[in-house]
Amino acid sequence: MKAKNRWVFSIALLTLTMLAGTYHLTASTELALRYVPTTHKVVALTFDDGPHPQTTPQILRVLKEKQVKTTFFVLGSNAATHPEWVKQAAQDGHEIGSHAYSHRFFNTLKTTEYEAEMDQTNQLICQLAHEPAVFRPPGGSWNDAVARAALLRGQTTILWSVDTGDWRRLPVGQVVKNTLDNVKPGSIVLMHDGQPALPTAEAVGIIIDKLRDKGYQFVTVSELLQYYEVRH
Ligand SMILES: [Zn+2]
Repeated sequence: MKAKNRWVFSIALLTLTMLAGTYHLTASTELALRYVPTTHKVVALTFDDGPHPQTTPQILRVLKEKQVKTTFFVLGSNAATHPEWVKQAAQDGHEIGSHAYSHRFFNTLKTTEYEAEMDQTNQLICQLAHEPAVFRPPGGSWNDAVARAALLRGQTTILWSVDTGDWRRLPVGQVVKNTLDNVKPGSIVLMHDGQPALPTAEAVGIIIDKLRDKGYQFVTVSELLQYYEVRH
């Protein structure tokens, strides 16, 4: 998403949140997105917890071969240790989002602690890739204050609607099935590249082929946000 569009989107979400507060609606559903409501057959593949020196290059190879752009929610601590794979992912055209620095769950941290995690990671991603426009809280642990802190940093908080189960090291076929059974237009698919020996690299190639057969296109999370359709 272009910087200007990103700000417009952030401000729109912030306004919605303030309105929700005024009218006592649940703000939580709007502050963090699990999927993007759309009628277009678009889907965003996302990878958390990397980079990892074995797993990340394996996944990047498959994505390059299939010509698919995705979003990597990198962990600041891993990006600091293996900066070359963050740079490579960005060079390949993938979006780099923040997954905070040390994978501590934000609901257990003080505001100053999680803001430091956010700022440290953002700074690193800016140096290695680009200004991050999306933020995924570690373990999906967030609250309204966390999402507002992200918005103030120009970032939308992104959760997921499809858990592939790759992090549990399920067999490739099961990871593929979990995905295909649950993907809908606007889905955000959760995968991982932060550990070795994951089924992810093998599964993602099959997932891409099968979803393409069903007419899906693959976009980064920021691109997916552009498909947001307000329902009446
Ligand atoms: Zn994670």
